[in-house]
Amino acid sequence: MDITIIDAPDYERVVEFKDSALGLLGYIAVHSTQRGPAAGGVRMRPYGHAAEALNDALQLARGMTFKNAAADLPLGGGKAVIIGDPHVDKSPDLLRSFGQAVQSLSGQYWTAEDMGMTPADMAHIGSRTDFVAGLADGEFASGDPSPITARGIFNAIRVAAQHRFGRTDLDGLTVSVQGLGHVGAHLCQLLHDAGARLIVTDIDARQSARVAEQCAAQAVAPDMIYGVEADIFAPCAIGGILNETSIPLLQVGAVAGGANNQLASAGDARLLHQRGILYAPDFVANGGGIINVATEILRVEEREAWVADRLKALEQTMDRILTRAKIEAVSPHEVAEAIVHEMLRPKAA
Ligand code: NAD
Repeated sequence: MDITIIDAPDYERVVEFKDSALGLLGYIAVHSTQRGPAAGGVRMRPYGHAAEALNDALQLARGMTFKNAAADLPLGGGKAVIIGDPHVDKSPDLLRSFGQAVQSLSGQYWTAEDMGMTPADMAHIGSRTDFVAGLADGEFASGDPSPITARGIFNAIRVAAQHRFGRTDLDGLTVSVQGLGHVGAHLCQLLHDAGARLIVTDIDARQSARVAEQCAAQAVAPDMIYGVEADIFAPCAIGGILNETSIPLLQVGAVAGGANNQLASAGDARLLHQRGILYAPDFVANGGGIINVATEILRVEEREAWVADRLKALEQTMDRILTRAKIEAVSPHEVAEAIVHEMLRPKAA
């Protein structure tokens, strides 16, 4: 296992880990430990090249600093990425080797599930490091975070509906959902149960067919989702999908979803604002997952009540952000970033 330190301004520590015998290559980015140990999942994807993977780790780690602060958790921001196709390249040995890389940071970074990872994978990683959460078994095990992530997004959609359409019930509202994996599928079920009409898509046609059947949803082709008419669009797949090309196509009143880093750039938040599309900041909407993971890192005894309290507080934070954005006539993304900057400002002695 080779660990190489990478120079990255504005980050506390960034390392490349490499185990050539196992074909393991990836990055751990620690953006900030100001509020506590950096926490954020590990993502495995077939990145085109190493620079793309490193950039993803950096962006996502910064996003975790904001997400953990917005959820008022005593945790900083970090993230790991592994280059490879999880369906082909993932093996217990590779995961154990990644566990060694996490351990080498001596607790500065805690890992958990992200795209391409499962609770079973966390067990392999945990055989080599103490700093893993999202395990299926154990005293404080928190398991798969995605149902709680979906619950938090559902709450954010309700808040967005209240601000944009003046109603908290979703009965009869149409929600378009992009990505029907762990988070998206749970979210669709919650929305369906609440009486929302669903238009869904996934690049995996089997996922689309399954959710369409379970939730009486209309399935559309992946490239059609931006143009469908709906009240709310919930991106739950990959980042960067709100951009100069997609935003002009949107026929919705609000965007509130779970994918990390939905905006391709900060300017895209202003583009949405100019079009009158209310944007519920992603790092607030999708904070449920890390709240769930935090119960394991922080060894919380009364897990269910603690999670419920934090989800409620997160919903109130979203409400405050959307209220302030309306008063100041700016994008909610700007307000959310400003609030977190205030939280991260060092306190005067
Ligand atoms: P997942 O891998 O289980 O599901 C992602 C789904 O999106 C897959 O079904 C995939 O086929 C689909 N997809 C990928 N690209 C697509 C595209 N261009 N168009 C349509 N569908 C596409 O991942 P997940 O755990 O459900 O996470 C989804 C998003 O939510 C990610 O951005 C993740 O970082 C974020 N997130 C997840 C959690 C969590 O608890 N799992 C927490 C916070 C944020």
